[in-house]
Amino acid sequence: MILNEKVNGKNLVWLDNAATTQKPQSVIDRISYFYQHENSNIHRAAHELAARATDAYEAARKKVQQFLGAGSVNEIIFVRGATEGINLVAQSWGAQHLKSGDEIIVSNLEHHANIVPWKRLADKRGLTLKVIPVDDDGQILLDEYAKLLTSRTRLVAFTQVSNALGTITPAEQIIALAHNAGAKVLVDGAQSVSHMPVNVQALDADWFVFSGHKVFGPTGIGVVYGKEDILNETEPWQGGGNMIQDVTFEEIRYHKAPNRFEAGTGNIADAVGLGAAIDYVTQLGMTNIGAYEHALLEYATHQLKQVPGVRLIGTAANKASVLSFILKGYSNDDVGKALNQEGIAVRTGHHCAQPILRRMRVETTVRPSLAFYNTCEDVDRLVAVVSRLASSQY
Ligand code: PMP
Repeated sequence: MILNEKVNGKNLVWLDNAATTQKPQSVIDRISYFYQHENSNIHRAAHELAARATDAYEAARKKVQQFLGAGSVNEIIFVRGATEGINLVAQSWGAQHLKSGDEIIVSNLEHHANIVPWKRLADKRGLTLKVIPVDDDGQILLDEYAKLLTSRTRLVAFTQVSNALGTITPAEQIIALAHNAGAKVLVDGAQSVSHMPVNVQALDADWFVFSGHKVFGPTGIGVVYGKEDILNETEPWQGGGNMIQDVTFEEIRYHKAPNRFEAGTGNIADAVGLGAAIDYVTQLGMTNIGAYEHALLEYATHQLKQVPGVRLIGTAANKASVLSFILKGYSNDDVGKALNQEGIAVRTGHHCAQPILRRMRVETTVRPSLAFYNTCEDVDRLVAVVSRLASSQY
């Protein structure tokens, strides 16, 4: 088990969960079982292993559907990750429907993955990109958001949890206001699905994306949920095998969703691994995970706040997992290295979210981020190192 690794002679403390999560043995075993007993391409053959691989892959799709509370398996598209999912929506639905003068709204909290695809499309098509501002704690300003919505707003794309600050956004309200204005909504769930129960139907999101590797599954697999009617009226993104009903040199007919968006051979084994990760967290219970992590985050926030010279970056009332901070007198890299010396893994840098860090008047932070396998002892070890650095400064 990787969490038993030694780093610099110390027991590893993994506090880089917002970047990626560690994998339960059941996930590793499931992928290994797939290659030992089921490996085949899917959908296209009469032989036994093709049936096993197809069953395993489609069972994983079913698990994702239930995990997200989607109405149908046809609404679950496997992609490489959240980034690919957002690019898929931008380049298929976006390219098909958005024209010069149309408006897209994102929030100031977004990861670059939910900025760059829209900014590129905006520049190419002459769209206006508007930004929902946040307050000094990193909370969405809903009144300001409401003022941004106009009859030209076609899309609102925002994150459910900020990866840089941990802010939980008021997703239901953002979505309801967008729909009232006649806009579609994409929710970036990369940082939410591992920390809280999510139900895409209750949210009423038009699309919802996440990455397997941030929810204890493998890298290279992720999901786009989309409402079935929207998916079926959207032109496919990539063309190739698997997504067509019939091909002649004169005419091509596409499958309905999800296959129309899964051209070529997908990441079959890792989709199956993601299914095992979903089984794992479902067994623990997402509500239990959320409650445990909430208590741990409160504990960690309280401890870290006591350290002289620590400035917490992102102090929203409603937060998940993330504790960004800077320490007076030290570069963030120095803090990261001192922590690594003690076996503690945290991220330092801009976390692919430069606009929100600049809004908070910093370029980078130190970012410990929690998961269900972290403990108060992990937090104590983190705080001990930061306190030692701080005390040698004063
Ligand atoms: N959105 C958010 C909020 C994220 O935290 C991340 C990953 N840091 C992404 C999108 C992109 O995820 P991936 O790199 O797995 O595609």
